[in-house]
Amino acid sequence: MDCLFCKIVSGEIPSKKVYEDDRVYAFYDIAPAAPTHVLVVPKKHIDGVDAVNAENASEVAYIFTVIPKIAESLGLKGGYRVVSNVGADAGQTVRHIHFHILGGKELGRMC
Ligand code: AMP
Ligand code: ZN
Repeated sequence: MDCLFCKIVSGEIPSKKVYEDDRVYAFYDIAPAAPTHVLVVPKKHIDGVDAVNAENASEVAYIFTVIPKIAESLGLKGGYRVVSNVGADAGQTVRHIHFHILGGKELGRMC
């Protein structure tokens, strides 16, 4: 499958790793939208939030047990935002489910 984030997970495309275990990989976003901007992805390919189902939901649940640990390791004591864009209207550019961790400043209200 020609998937950018599968290639990052496999190491075929380099990334700046923040966290890794047997199910999750996290790395710095190449175009940060906040002082701290990290992407968290399951190693198993899932297209997006719109492709979560009973079979793969455990990967997503597991990611949400890891996100607070990553945020703590990044020193985001003041809080952070977790975002997942779905489809064209939200501007999803990579069809491998990912969760943006954004922080390091007061982020303001969302649109
Ligand atoms: P989205 O637009 O929600 O699909 O998020 C995709 C994110 O991947 C964007 O914030 C991009 O800046 C980021 N991105 C694209 N290519 C890379 C890469 N090679 N390494 C790290 N982040 C990337
Ligand atoms: Zn993928």
